[in-house]
Amino acid sequence: MLTDDTAWAAVLRRDRAFDGRFVTGVLTTGIYCRPSCAARHPARGNVRFFADGAAARAVGLRACKRCLPDDVGRDEAAVLAALDEIRQAEDAPSLAALAQLTGYSPTHFQRVFKRAIGLSPAAYARALREERARDALSGGSDVTGAIYEAGYGSASRFYENTKGRLGMTASAWANGGAGVTIHWAVVETSMGAMLVAATDKGVCRLSFNEDASELARRFPKAELVEGGAEFEKLLAEVVASVEAPGDFAHIPLDVKGTAFQEACWKALRAIPPGETRTYAEIAAAAGNPKAVRAAGSANARNNVAVLIPCHRVIRTGGDLGGYAYGLDIKRELLKREGVE
Ligand SMILES: [Zn+2]
Repeated sequence: MLTDDTAWAAVLRRDRAFDGRFVTGVLTTGIYCRPSCAARHPARGNVRFFADGAAARAVGLRACKRCLPDDVGRDEAAVLAALDEIRQAEDAPSLAALAQLTGYSPTHFQRVFKRAIGLSPAAYARALREERARDALSGGSDVTGAIYEAGYGSASRFYENTKGRLGMTASAWANGGAGVTIHWAVVETSMGAMLVAATDKGVCRLSFNEDASELARRFPKAELVEGGAEFEKLLAEVVASVEAPGDFAHIPLDVKGTAFQEACWKALRAIPPGETRTYAEIAAAAGNPKAVRAAGSANARNNVAVLIPCHRVIRTGGDLGGYAYGLDIKRELLKREGVE
């Protein structure tokens, strides 16, 4: 439960992240607001905090007409639905179409969306398209990720707590890896040259047929160090997991994606060796059965091959689908796990 001091500080900051967590009742005016209400701040002495609108109404207050505190949940649902629609559409949906989908007027919906995401729906769709076009395989600090952070970073219901997801922190992925040391090596495996790179938090990249220049591109500000005693120990474990597939859940990872991407990666980690899943199943396991295309994109953005076993995803109907490092490697990985 929030303390009154925390709540008041949020009100003074007009912190949107607290919208929906409590309402601010103003005894003198008889209204209640969301914490971020743009209206002039009442005197602290006239303010009481309530868990929600119902509690405020119970003592005779009514909802502010400016910030519509009872619409917080509806706004969130509308924005999420629109994000989904934009991500899955081939062509960017029109504002009118999004408004209709969410039941708001276009003008009002544009305002609600922009307040939550920091961009208009059209600008968001554009950014998403550019990001997808730029590099379907590059991971990390992408636009949607940044938007999630900026828009929903502290809004708890939108963005799950980043700690504990996949059991790692994302040290290397912020700010080009500034201040982070990445140890790396390229080792020969039966599937060709394998690049393994790790921070002190865990493996941040595993790929085939790449060299350190790829790391420099992804982590331009990190210090790249070839080899290293501690790293060699981790490397040995990684190589063993690749050559003789077994349990690699204990190998720590240092990765970063959007909440949905990370949920997909977590779902991938939960596929037992010897089994495969479809993109639709991964989307469902990640909590959004409709986001099949987004699950495919999360798969493509996986930075740690094998340890996040994106090779265990195939098309509905059994077709192998694609693989960033070529179908021969995918086929070989699956074969060693007993999938023919
Ligand atoms: Zn208000």
